[in-house]
Amino acid sequence: MMSANLDDLPAAVRYALETTRATTACPFHDGVIIRVGDDAAESHAYERAKRIVRSDGTAFEADALRDEIGRQLKLAADGRCPKCDGTGPAG
Ligand SMILES: [Zn+2]
Repeated sequence: MMSANLDDLPAAVRYALETTRATTACPFHDGVIIRVGDDAAESHAYERAKRIVRSDGTAFEADALRDEIGRQLKLAADGRCPKCDGTGPAG
């Protein structure tokens, strides 16, 4: 089992995106997130994130979730890992 701290908005969104296969982490490059899902996977991730309840019993705000999902998808590599491709920026 994954033991993520889902009280944190970025962590909760990342968890939702990965468990719905909207994104996946590169198995070879720690910290590289790849956008692999379609629109359906991404809206599924949003629905899942909305159902995450923090340890204080509250859920995340819908607007905050939507913003964070958009931010993480923008940061994610599109379709494949740029480091595996060898065409991405160094570092
Ligand atoms: Zn890689």
